[in-house]
Amino acid sequence: MTLISDDFLADNPDLRFYVNHWIDWAILAEEVEYKGFSEELANAGDGYTNTMEARDVYADVLSLAGQLAAGEIAPRAAQIDREGLELVDGEVVLPDAMTEIFHTLAETGLHGMCVPREFGGMNVPLMVYFLSGELFARADVSVMAHFGFHGGIAMALLVYSALEGTATVDPETGGIVDCRFADAVRDIVENAEWGSMDITEPGAGSDVGAMRTRGVQNADGQWFVTGQKIFITSGNGKYHIVLARTEDAGESDDPMAGLGGLSLFLVEAWSEDASGDRVRHATLSRIEEKLGHHASPTVAVDFDNAPAELIGKRGEGFKLMLLLMNNARISVGFEGLGVCEAALRMARAYAAERVSMGKTINKHELIADYIDEMENTVVGLRAICVDAGFSEELAQRKRLRLMYAPPEDAAEKRALEREVKDLAWQSRLNTPLLKYMAAEAAVDMARQTLQIHGGYGYTTEYGAEKLLRDALVLPIYEGTSQI
Ligand SMILES: Cc1cc2nc3c(=O)[nH]c(=O)nc-3n(C[C@H](O)[C@H](O)[C@H](O)COP(=O)(O)OP(=O)(O)OC[C@H]3O[C@@H](n4cnc5c(N)ncnc54)[C@H](O)[C@@H]3O)c2cc1C
Repeated sequence: MTLISDDFLADNPDLRFYVNHWIDWAILAEEVEYKGFSEELANAGDGYTNTMEARDVYADVLSLAGQLAAGEIAPRAAQIDREGLELVDGEVVLPDAMTEIFHTLAETGLHGMCVPREFGGMNVPLMVYFLSGELFARADVSVMAHFGFHGGIAMALLVYSALEGTATVDPETGGIVDCRFADAVRDIVENAEWGSMDITEPGAGSDVGAMRTRGVQNADGQWFVTGQKIFITSGNGKYHIVLARTEDAGESDDPMAGLGGLSLFLVEAWSEDASGDRVRHATLSRIEEKLGHHASPTVAVDFDNAPAELIGKRGEGFKLMLLLMNNARISVGFEGLGVCEAALRMARAYAAERVSMGKTINKHELIADYIDEMENTVVGLRAICVDAGFSEELAQRKRLRLMYAPPEDAAEKRALEREVKDLAWQSRLNTPLLKYMAAEAAVDMARQTLQIHGGYGYTTEYGAEKLLRDALVLPIYEGTSQI
């Protein structure tokens, strides 16, 4: 079986084509490295001499991700799948194999890969994170999902602070040097703390407007959140971005009815008392037993008057949450792509070895067609994924530049406004399409791979059934395929 690889980037020529040729890293580096480029910055470890140097570092980070995926995650995936996670005394307990993986990921600093250096991160483009998503998901999609709730939440908090105007921006460089959630961001990056996105409730999944969790403000202006959220990925983490109802609608056509009455909060699930013991403000009442996705904790979280910080303005919650979900949907696209890549390789390797009626099954026309089709799907999906990720990142970064460091020249400013609008449109069209196509393709290809393995596919021997079990969640979370 030729599935063993020690580097998931090096063994993938199509992915390397995007990394080495297609992606215009210079354009991204110009946006990300807001201080510009100089030898002085490079010597101080605070930037690069030029965009070529930045590009080399991005390639190195991806190479590291490829090696960790192949060397650390993939070899432990079957064990994690078997052992799963437990809820003991209200806390999630990870199996040793998973602790080892996340310990290694933390040591490499990859948690904060996109977070600015001012907050302890590596300050690489989001595109590096998206591509790492494919690499990690090829090894185990649930490890990738859990990993995403480190840096993803840190970046969301930075962007929220910037959008609400509470970030401190260096007027010379346009870079965020401080923000309202700086402690949380640093905790995630430096201490490998987790965050989560808490939207779903027992009676409100796709129908977000039906949610019942309440945000209430007391006379001193302090907010508190009460209610239950379910199916929360990485809900064992400390930093919960929670959507809750703050406005009561008078009539059904009141703009505060439904989605307009929702606000977004940051809730810290616990604090520490004087003796350093954990005092929980949000409790974990259940961990879901799932078909697959076993490295990713999916929990029910109960908030009972939990102290909360309002993010943005009252009634802006749904709009702000969509911003976070947009990135998350692109990430799910890359997760789906990683599953497809794994399925293709598993199918190809097995079909090249399994003999039936005098020849290997890849010489039987129907199986050869399946594999051809899978190869085309993977290549096509990767093109859409990279394009969507690229336009979304540029739209977000240029929008912030427009807010905090707009060009002085009026014509240049108008051109930037137009560019942001075009990029945002492109991303708005691509993102749901990408999420839908990648999620459905992952399920189809995992099933096809199981079928190509015949009876062995239905057993646990080759891992084809695990791939299918893991893939089946992709058309459900971050907005179902039907929605
Ligand atoms: C492993 C896992 C991890 C998750 N992680 C998170 C998380 O981190 N945070 C979070 O908030 N949530 C999370 N979720 C919840 C997930 O986002 C919801 O399950 C999803 O939004 C669907 O909601 P529901 O389960 O209530 O299904 P429902 O909304 O009840 O839908 C049931 C079915 O009806 C269909 N349907 C519903 N409305 C329509 C419509 N208008 N038109 C056509 N079809 C429709 C749906 O597509 C689906 O097939 C997770 C779920 C899982 C399984």
